Amino acid sequence: MTSSPASTSEVVTRFAPSPTGFLHIGGARTALFNYLYARRHNGKFLVRVEDTDRERSTDEAVKAIFDGMAWLELFADEEPVFQFSRADRHREVANQLLESGHAYRDFLTADETAALRDQAKAEGKTFESPWRDREPTVDDLLKPHTVRFRRPADAPVVVDDAVQGAVRWDTSALDDLVILRSDGAPTYNLAVVVDDHDMGVTHVIRGDDHLNNAARQSLIYDALGWTRPTFAHIPLIHGPDGAKLSKRHGAQAVHEYAEMGYLPEAMRNYLARLGWAHGDDELFSDEQAREWFDLGGIGKAPSRLDFDKLAHVNSHWIRLAQDDRLAKMTLDVHLSRDHVLAPDDEARLLRAMPFVKDRAKTTLDLADQTAFVLKPRPLSIDEKGRGLLSGESGERISRLRDRLALFGSWDVFALEAELKVFAEDEGVGFGKIGPATRAALTGGAASPDIAKTLAALGREESLGRLDDALQQTK
Ligand code: GLU
Repeated sequence: MTSSPASTSEVVTRFAPSPTGFLHIGGARTALFNYLYARRHNGKFLVRVEDTDRERSTDEAVKAIFDGMAWLELFADEEPVFQFSRADRHREVANQLLESGHAYRDFLTADETAALRDQAKAEGKTFESPWRDREPTVDDLLKPHTVRFRRPADAPVVVDDAVQGAVRWDTSALDDLVILRSDGAPTYNLAVVVDDHDMGVTHVIRGDDHLNNAARQSLIYDALGWTRPTFAHIPLIHGPDGAKLSKRHGAQAVHEYAEMGYLPEAMRNYLARLGWAHGDDELFSDEQAREWFDLGGIGKAPSRLDFDKLAHVNSHWIRLAQDDRLAKMTLDVHLSRDHVLAPDDEARLLRAMPFVKDRAKTTLDLADQTAFVLKPRPLSIDEKGRGLLSGESGERISRLRDRLALFGSWDVFALEAELKVFAEDEGVGFGKIGPATRAALTGGAASPDIAKTLAALGREESLGRLDDALQQTK
């Protein structure tokens, strides 16, 4: 990283999470918007870990955030920047501001500051330290002090936000921000400005809870003579009821969505649409998102989480996903449900995928709907199944078994035709055969049509299960 901004033609965006917990879906959406904007403009997408708050930042949180981003396949174009490691550079810039008169040393103690702040509040004024206009003596300089940014007095500060439009503040309402604490630690807004500048960030896309910071940060940019980035403050995500997203609305962490069986591409599609629109398009690919994403399409109103919509988007992407990938994911769900791995599992799941993927909203659904292929033999046939397999019906299933054993092709269409012919030969409707066959093949578990069930199980397993069942119900 250099300390001069990137060439003006290149778009540089960044995602700047504070590592104090998991990757929240709001954060994931911010990351995605920054990523898409950079891609759209052939620019760079960077990540900065804002770990200046040493008490709240943890290594586990850094890992959780990177894991969440990796799951969503949002990779930065450069190594991440860790904000805390840049504290010297932040102090250097604070000194630059002191030298240019845009900052001053404040020798008030914490108690004095609190008292003056209360007094200002009671008088309806903005707190101001007397040190704003006082020259420290050489003795003063030896005492502990903070460094405050000297905001321009009584001037408007206007942020031309790409989402919110022109937002105006009066500097008389803002106080002089502490930029270095008395222990020399740089504070948040200074660090953000210095890092964004040094990283060459041209577009700051983030949650609108940072809008007020944009006013303060703009003043610092101006004082340093640095070009401000374009700010785009996106409205936060709300729950389905319109209230600010909280625990009671359910999952908030990206990894929870992974565990609930959503595909990363579905999550990206859904999150891109959450607060941003390209006409009426609801289902779009990563390529389309990269081509279409613009700041003008971001809405001003908070978006609401809609789990039905997410399920709809997810089922779309499940239908389009490769069967082998879905089979692997589904196997993982089965394993997480204490299934004991058997050699043929993945092959069976793979064969079952085309028959279940059209009806699944999540990979958990895929696991539910494929449980029948992984059942260990011999299947136990419940009371109802035994009933279905007794007497005449059992004899019919036995004839079906023999017919299938001679059957050459184990393709689903051929099986379907064969079952039809068999029913005709038996002189019964398929309703007389289906339930008993299913009971024998799955032990009563849910499964697709019989021909599909047979195709998913494969020849050997199907015949074996029929034999087991007939054996049990003799
Ligand atoms: N670290 C801040 C946060 O996690 C983001 C700051 C920014 O994007 O400027 O909310």
